[in-house]
Amino acid sequence: MVVFDMTISPAPSRSRILSDLQSQTFDLLVIGGGATGAGIALDAASRGMSVALVEKLDFAFGTSSRSTKLIHGGLRYLKQFEIKLVREVGQERAIVHKLAPHLVVSEPMLLPLIKGGTYGRLATSFGLKVYDFLAGVSGKDRRKMLSKATTLKKAPLLRDDVLLGGGLYAEYRTDDARLTVENVKAAMHHGAVACNYAEVKDFLYDQGIVQGAVVEDGFTGDQVEVRARQVVSAAGPWVDELRKKNQSMNEKRLFLSKGVHLVVPHERFPLDQSVYFDVPDGRMIFAIPRGKVTYIGTTDTEYKADKERPRTNQEDVDYLLEATNSMFPEVNLRQEDVVSSWAGLRPLIYEEGKSASEISRKDEVFISDSRLVSIAGGKLTGYRKMAERVVDTAADQLAKHFDKSFGRCRTKSIDLAGGGLANSKEVKQYQGEVAMKLQAAGLTDPYLAQYLVHLYGKQTDLILAELAGMEQQNEAALIRAELAFALKYELVFTAADFLVRRTGRLYFDIDSVRQYRDLVIGQMARQYDWDETEQQTQRNLIDQEVEEVSTFPKQAASVPA
Ligand code: FAD
Repeated sequence: MVVFDMTISPAPSRSRILSDLQSQTFDLLVIGGGATGAGIALDAASRGMSVALVEKLDFAFGTSSRSTKLIHGGLRYLKQFEIKLVREVGQERAIVHKLAPHLVVSEPMLLPLIKGGTYGRLATSFGLKVYDFLAGVSGKDRRKMLSKATTLKKAPLLRDDVLLGGGLYAEYRTDDARLTVENVKAAMHHGAVACNYAEVKDFLYDQGIVQGAVVEDGFTGDQVEVRARQVVSAAGPWVDELRKKNQSMNEKRLFLSKGVHLVVPHERFPLDQSVYFDVPDGRMIFAIPRGKVTYIGTTDTEYKADKERPRTNQEDVDYLLEATNSMFPEVNLRQEDVVSSWAGLRPLIYEEGKSASEISRKDEVFISDSRLVSIAGGKLTGYRKMAERVVDTAADQLAKHFDKSFGRCRTKSIDLAGGGLANSKEVKQYQGEVAMKLQAAGLTDPYLAQYLVHLYGKQTDLILAELAGMEQQNEAALIRAELAFALKYELVFTAADFLVRRTGRLYFDIDSVRQYRDLVIGQMARQYDWDETEQQTQRNLIDQEVEEVSTFPKQAASVPA
């Protein structure tokens, strides 16, 4: 099979990565492998800096696997008059779509207009027009105002007694964890040394200036010293913990807001059109179809408990089900319909007197007296632009203190996921080709081609090449092929890395996690030489993941922040 000319490289072994971390003084050490840190690593490495990226758990373990998964202009920020933010993230959508057209896909959003709702017809029409203008939306993607009948045609389950009409506007949907991991892979391809399960425990100083960090291997507990001329913290909800270690807290601090999404089978909420709708308390939430499911979210509540494992609790479920049923009464969702969920923490910058949903989503860069650069706040959508700002700051520091100079940001033209697909049309055509190949191998479910191409783009060729080499060609063989690809290219070290963050199966196909748990662990055991005790640990961890997303405590287990 001919495989396209990729711009990704097989990942080095973990022992090689750990030794590379200690082999030199890097220009830049990036702490945190979420979308922000991964974007910074790619930007810096592609400008020619030597870069190390360390993540204490798995890449995208934090907020970057738990968002609404929209690459969006943030209509609600227009309501708060955050014009600059709307313009920047709106324009970024088009750029990120171009960089990964399979992964950042057009998802027109329906905004139903209802009696007594947030927006009237005129205000909506004007607001969406301004939104299009700021985001540079053109042609057929521009907003359309719809009659009540057309709105109902698009979303027949909407409650019709209060419906007045609708507005349809351009948004994009993504998979946040895959966007993150593709940035990590592209950064590695440009020479960055990236290591997950590597936690910064402390900073290294030279005459009071941060010059690296003590990093602990999450599997062995061994510590290594990583030296760098400049250190950047992109630790999301953990930014203040590192600022405290660096003794550089000032009057600005993080405010964590929890957001929850519920997942129900598509048959129970058969939506074919994404909807952004009013709920009785004056907030707005999304309902988004994706493959076999529809997901609903989000909430916005202050959070002070365990940052590593935020959970969906009973109150969150009640709120989202009630809100959905009030706009889609015929659907009548019940708790038993919820098959999965996720909860994420927005790392916002505290503003005196403002509630969680009123606080701005804009990002801010802090430079401490000891030259630690920290970035906090922001949106997934703006990760590339945030990375540019941070790397510009790092480059200034490197020029000033070390007389080193680097070029300008290039990430606008660095394709993600190995490239190979130029636009949505090519993605669609390629998906058709993949579907035919799968059919020829006896895999007839059309979901499979959609799933593979959305997650992997042209890298699907590599998975199909693995599949072709297998004795049998069935769904189990396909997941084996997918895992073989992940093990080779995507720094997968636990079963959850694969089943939660590389594939999103825990959220979007939870039955497949139950079905293939042992197959995945068996194959990983052969790769990593796991004994029976380790295999049992992995099984328990997957069972814990399943339990945590599908059961809802009255009050989430709370560890004081
Ligand atoms: P994170 O993804 O949290 O990454 C920080 C990483 O740092 C973590 O992986 C953590 O393990 C690591 N780390 C912490 N301490 C250390 C240490 N000592 N050593 C090494 N590593 C460390 N944005 C959008 O654009 N669109 C949306 O639809 C959207 N929806 C959202 C919905 C919800 C519910 C939430 C919570 C957020 C949403 N956002 C959205 C915002 C977006 O998800 C975040 O802005 C973004 O993911 C933050 O990425 P990050 O890399 O800064 O943080």
